[in-house]
Amino acid sequence: MAWPLLTPSAAVTSIVFDLDGTLYTSAPLLQEVTTAAEELVAQTRGVSRKEGKQILASAEKRLCEIFDEEPTLTHTCLELGISLVELHQAFIRTLRPERHLDDDPILAALLDALQEHCDLYIYTNNNLALTRKILALLGVERYFKGLYTIEFTAAPKPDLEALQQVLEDIGGPPESFLFVGDRPNVDLREPAALGIATLVVRETADLLQIHRFLNIIP
Ligand SMILES: [Mg+2]
Repeated sequence: MAWPLLTPSAAVTSIVFDLDGTLYTSAPLLQEVTTAAEELVAQTRGVSRKEGKQILASAEKRLCEIFDEEPTLTHTCLELGISLVELHQAFIRTLRPERHLDDDPILAALLDALQEHCDLYIYTNNNLALTRKILALLGVERYFKGLYTIEFTAAPKPDLEALQQVLEDIGGPPESFLFVGDRPNVDLREPAALGIATLVVRETADLLQIHRFLNIIP
């Protein structure tokens, strides 16, 4: 999906980043997330991990057919009757980001340049404990003024009401925001509908687009 790249703007004062897949990518960590969800489905249904995997896959397929887009893992688990609390307790119990993530000096330099001009925030479907841990492992925790995790909104992205809560908490008109994420349908569609500038990133190097957008030389 081609997402519009907007003209450089000096009006932006708050940049809101998604976390997973946006500030870092890690296939093995993503696999741990999927495995944790499959095991949880298996446990709650009293079936094998293999059957848990099948149940999760068919729920995903069903949601995809209904909504004509790939559902988030969170929405799929909710659909299967697993609560957000259960899901995130399982993530906190089993995920080991320290095995997969390390200091990212390039990311730190990019964020350092941005935070001289704007306040930086995280808005993620991840929980606070893992968000803090991941940011600390990447060595970029200090650049963020606020962390909007699943505990804040209690509703996973995409969710217009939750988004409005985040915007109200930060404060400012739509033109003062820039939203940055790796999944347009999850991270950017709702903000874009409110007239907020958005950028898709697929890897850390893509974050340089933000500097161009804001006319900042990193
Ligand atoms: Mg993401």
